[in-house]
Amino acid sequence: MPKVLIIGAGGVGNVVAQKCAQIQEVFSDILIASRTKAKCDAIAATINHPRITTAQLDADQVPDIVALIQAFQPDIVINVALPYQDLPIMDACLATGVHYLDTANYEPPDEAKFEYKWQWAYDDRFQEAGIMAVLGCGFDPGVTGIFTAHALKHHFDAIHYLDIVDCNAGDHGQAFATNFNPEINIREITQKGRYYEGGEWKEIDPFSLHQPIDYPEIGSRESYLLYHEELESLVKHIPTIKRARFWMTFSQAYLTHLEVLQNVGMTSIEPIDYEGQQIIPLQFLKAVLPLPSSLGENYEGQTSIGCHIRGIKDGKEKTYYIYNNCDHAAAYREVGAQAIAYTTGVPAMLGALMVLTGEWQGTGVFNVEQLNPDPFLAKLGTYGLPWHERVGGPSVFVD
Ligand code: NDP
Repeated sequence: MPKVLIIGAGGVGNVVAQKCAQIQEVFSDILIASRTKAKCDAIAATINHPRITTAQLDADQVPDIVALIQAFQPDIVINVALPYQDLPIMDACLATGVHYLDTANYEPPDEAKFEYKWQWAYDDRFQEAGIMAVLGCGFDPGVTGIFTAHALKHHFDAIHYLDIVDCNAGDHGQAFATNFNPEINIREITQKGRYYEGGEWKEIDPFSLHQPIDYPEIGSRESYLLYHEELESLVKHIPTIKRARFWMTFSQAYLTHLEVLQNVGMTSIEPIDYEGQQIIPLQFLKAVLPLPSSLGENYEGQTSIGCHIRGIKDGKEKTYYIYNNCDHAAAYREVGAQAIAYTTGVPAMLGALMVLTGEWQGTGVFNVEQLNPDPFLAKLGTYGLPWHERVGGPSVFVD
């Protein structure tokens, strides 16, 4: 019976472990391993599964990961540690011949650069080893790529315009907090905005392009153009795309806090000397902010993430919207997590289930839009993330 090794015991790791444990016929043995074993133990203590164990692991150290894999013999490794650990964990999977899945692309620690090139470079070696790496299988990246693949397969002959929209209309009651790892989150949103148009990437100042967008069951929310990593793989794998953009909502209070933190240097990743010790301001900021995994208890409201697509079907222009709404409080009641962790952890579990049940097969490195969307979307609602589609109607975006 298949065994799963989950690396990382944060907000997302908790959801992955809880959801795997609900499907014991697929995930017969679960090992949660992370830097701080107490966090793995705390998750395991809330889970009712006959074969769940925990381990301490420094996932920057390839030999340590290899030793753990050899001892536990998993069929797949789900990496929900930080993007910095992607390459060491992929190396360990190659050394041991075990499938790999993650939810965020590799970033070098000293430079906020979101690119797939480092992980795509593993393709030949994963092919030679006869194993599969599934990259970016959270919600965005993840379900957004699968939504787009579904649209292409069932609704369009060619996709021309893609706008991914991500709204968090929830309220956690804190003055300022990030919904997933603060260091990774702030690195992502403070970089320049970037989108793809007419075969090239266009760069804008952070938060300089924004517009109100209407979200189902939520209403209109100001949404800001950001660079998001799935844009890179989607325009590569769907070359008919003429323009691809990503939009995310932020409240004015969030933006004001962020601006102040940036102005005083707290979001910098350049090391500084503090009383004889080298510290990275952003890592210090992370230490004083609320843990994302602690936000769930009082969180109210919904997230709404989807893809607005325009293209051609049977020679005619067509518009299409596909989305999921997820309720923070409902996620908390089910697995003790807020909706951002939930919408990331459920697809990671389901992607692993796809690989273990043979619905997704192949050797090499894959982004999710390269895989069959049908079996994944057939089960996504069952496991907690129902999706909806609107065919036709006016486009939300003005050219
Ligand atoms: P957290 O910071 O809550 O958790 C990260 C976990 O990884 C912690 O348990 C941490 O250990 C562990 N970790 C960090 N470094 C190491 C290491 N060297 N060795 C072993 N374990 C390590 O993050 P989240 O749960 O919020 O996010 C997890 C991942 O999910 C991130 O990569 C994030 O980018 C991604 N994500 C993806 C989304 C998507 O939709 N695709 C959306 C949201 C998040 P410790 O507790 O000791 O610090």
